[in-house]
Amino acid sequence: MERYDIAIIGTGPAGLSAAITAKIRNKSVLLIGSKDLSPKVTKAHAIQNYLGLPNIPGSDLGAAFQASIDSVGVTVTEDKITAAYNLGDYYGLQGAETIYEASTLILATGMIPGKLLPGEEALLGRGVSY
Ligand SMILES: Cc1cc2nc3c(=O)[nH]c(=O)nc-3n(C[C@H](O)[C@H](O)[C@H](O)COP(=O)(O)OP(=O)(O)OC[C@H]3O[C@@H](n4cnc5c(N)ncnc54)[C@H](O)[C@@H]3O)c2cc1C
Repeated sequence: MERYDIAIIGTGPAGLSAAITAKIRNKSVLLIGSKDLSPKVTKAHAIQNYLGLPNIPGSDLGAAFQASIDSVGVTVTEDKITAAYNLGDYYGLQGAETIYEASTLILATGMIPGKLLPGEEALLGRGVSY
């Protein structure tokens, strides 16, 4: 089994930034998450505070993120990690059907919001944004 230098769980802006940085420093990188990257980003109607990309729709920002990781050869492994074990000098990560190994682990899993307001989830990205 391949043991990666760095495993990153999460394909939002934090995980993608970490993966690009690791890759350009010639580390072997395992980026685990979703091919859709981050629904939080892509569902945003308009993002006004992303430096250099003023008032960009979330879907366009998602496409720009994809182009960034493509440009350095970072790929996404689609899986959901259900457990991470510290095994001394490396970490073991439990995916749906696969166990991964990496010397370093970065958790970039975002946050789960607390109790949602009535209708919030159904209308997210369709008028409701943060
Ligand atoms: C509708 C909306 C509009 C927003 N608008 C703005 C805005 O205008 N400006 C702004 O600054 N911020 C905005 N935000 C907030 C912004 O999207 C978040 O702050 C940002 O996405 C956080 O990035 P992150 O990488 O930490 O986590 P996330 O983007 O949440 O990414 C985490 C990723 O980790 C994955 N993951 C989690 N657990 C696991 C696991 N166990 N195994 C595998 N993968 C896992 C998730 O599926 C997800 O893909 C908005 C959010 C929403 C929902």
